[in-house]
Amino acid sequence: MMLRIENISHRYGSDNALENVSFEIADGEFVALTGESGSGKSTLLSIVSTLLRPTSGSVRFDGTAAAALGDLDRFRNEQVGFVFQFHYLIAHFTLFENVTLASRASKEEVMALMERLGIAELAKRYPDEVSGGQRQRAAIARALVNRPRYLFADEPTGNLDTANSANVFELLRGLDATVVVATHDRSLLRPEDRIITLKDGRLC
Ligand code: ADP
Ligand code: MG
Repeated sequence: MMLRIENISHRYGSDNALENVSFEIADGEFVALTGESGSGKSTLLSIVSTLLRPTSGSVRFDGTAAAALGDLDRFRNEQVGFVFQFHYLIAHFTLFENVTLASRASKEEVMALMERLGIAELAKRYPDEVSGGQRQRAAIARALVNRPRYLFADEPTGNLDTANSANVFELLRGLDATVVVATHDRSLLRPEDRIITLKDGRLC
């Protein structure tokens, strides 16, 4: 059971964003993807999460190539959660409503998840009535509400202060999903983390 990235290369026009990247991720593993700005983290995360089709190479989920999964929308909806630098919560919905939107979970399940993420008591507040860290927790709750097997996060702490960033990383480490999180901020990493580093589109 694993996620396998095989010989991925990607070009934007003549710009080589990724060059022959291969690695494997086991089920339930936490992987930090690091590298300087422009090193290819977002491109790789978009490819691994099936949002972007690589110029060459393949991504395999339990042996099945992304290109052969068939209904990619359905695959993403059922198995993948996404978190981005900006939370994309809907301003005129409460945190609870934002998390519940497009979810298959019951109210009790949503509240249990929000409890686990430390935002249950904020369920009735609107995004502009809570802190940036709390908004990002709500975005993570929304990404987890359908119990995805994979969670992909691109610079999820890009907008947060140091304490909230460390908090969000602790939360991501403790999830029982396969988690791949891109960050240029190496201070958030721990020696025991599995770290994949990109430099100019190559693994190093
Ligand atoms: P990172 O997330 O590590 O900052 P990116 O994956 O965003 O890196 O970018 C890798 C390289 O690809 C950079 O040189 C960037 O300018 C280029 N790039 C990224 N997205 C696009 C795009 N949509 N069109 C053209 N070039 C892009
Ligand atoms: Mg990026």
